[in-house]
Amino acid sequence: MAKKIQAIRGMNDCLPTETPVWQTVEETLRRVVASYGYREIRYPVVESTELFKRSIGEVTDIVEKEMYTFDDRNGDSLTLRPEGTACCVRAGNEHGLLYNQEQRLWYMGPMFRHERPQKGRYRQFHQFGCEVFGLSAPDSDAEVILLTARLWKQLGIAEHVRLELNSLGSNEARAAYRDALVSFLEQFKDQLDEDSLRRLYTNPLRILDTKNQDIQKILVDAPKLSEHLDDESTEHFKTLCERLDAAGIQYTVNERLVRGLDYYNRTVFEWITDSLGAQGTVCAGGRYDGLVEQLGGKATPAVGFALGLERLVLMVSSLETLKKIPAAVDVFVAAVGQNVENAAMQLAEQVRDEFPSRRVMLNCGGGSFKKQLKRADNSGAEIALILGEDEVSAKEVTVKFLREDKPQQRISQTDLASVLGA
Ligand code: ATP
Ligand code: MG
Repeated sequence: MAKKIQAIRGMNDCLPTETPVWQTVEETLRRVVASYGYREIRYPVVESTELFKRSIGEVTDIVEKEMYTFDDRNGDSLTLRPEGTACCVRAGNEHGLLYNQEQRLWYMGPMFRHERPQKGRYRQFHQFGCEVFGLSAPDSDAEVILLTARLWKQLGIAEHVRLELNSLGSNEARAAYRDALVSFLEQFKDQLDEDSLRRLYTNPLRILDTKNQDIQKILVDAPKLSEHLDDESTEHFKTLCERLDAAGIQYTVNERLVRGLDYYNRTVFEWITDSLGAQGTVCAGGRYDGLVEQLGGKATPAVGFALGLERLVLMVSSLETLKKIPAAVDVFVAAVGQNVENAAMQLAEQVRDEFPSRRVMLNCGGGSFKKQLKRADNSGAEIALILGEDEVSAKEVTVKFLREDKPQQRISQTDLASVLGA
């Protein structure tokens, strides 16, 4: 037997038993963002490597060790997109959507990162995200957060997520804070672990979200980002908090929340759950006022978020928050006897013509009455329409109710509405 070829580690199939949950989650997301007036944007899965290096930052986990990068046949360095924001800004700049305009956009699709696969963490995963351009005031940050809060409500998981919030301030304020943090941490250089030492001069803010408890103890006395915020950012953050309070959104301010990507300034936030084990961040976002310019456009403020669909699907599945998902078929057409198969195929098409919302499965490949009824049952259909030689010559059909205790009926083929109508 030939050797079976398997999927790439960390890249999963989504089987027909799983796709209904995915579709329900995706439809919910689409419906909610549409209710805020957001429009969809789509862009390629592959971009030039330079795009991610310049936006996400050279000394971030993603660019340092997680990207799928390769040379194409022309020798150009390409990368499978590890996230969507950089691509969105690239596309927006390229098509003149951003400067001096207001845009509320959303996207959804696969992303690729070479990480260690585990529950909630994969090498091909899916993100849904929103990006708002052209608005700098904190009400746009608040709107984005309100929108995400509505998503959790619609998905039935609002009780299982909590919001953490912080402000990174302006780039200048962050640079000043960075210097203060480095000077502080230099006193403890001999106590830092390998990761933190590596980050000390490349990306010291990342040390703030270390999982190492000894370093967390050192950080208790570290200078605080909030003490270095510029006045405008302080005001911006205060107003955002007021908006959230007014809207009844609960949050905690986490001074150590810095996010892994370089492009954020001012607001950063994460929605976190305890129901997924170690992979607790469901959704993350923030403001990135400098990115459009950094990628060659004219300065345009922006704010957005991305959420991981796998983590959402895991949550709604394990918490069973979604309504029971219906079977894929409503009506099964069976044909038993000589020369009835043409008539059966026509009948199935007739049902699809007259009742476009009904999902009809036609028995294929013949078989005994018993076998066909078994197929009808397995299909999940509620109704079987059965054609035998008698029915065909009388232009009638036998109706069998598969899930209800009701006697079967024989009706005219012109009277299907009496059973399929409502
Ligand atoms: P994490 O801290 O879990 O690695 P991150 O900070 O790298 O997340 P972002 O780049 O902010 O994540 O992506 C936004 C969201 O996408 C995450 O909150 C998470 O829900 C999801 N996500 C990120 N990486 C993965 C992955 N490898 N597999 C599945 N989902 C992921
Ligand atoms: Mg990560």
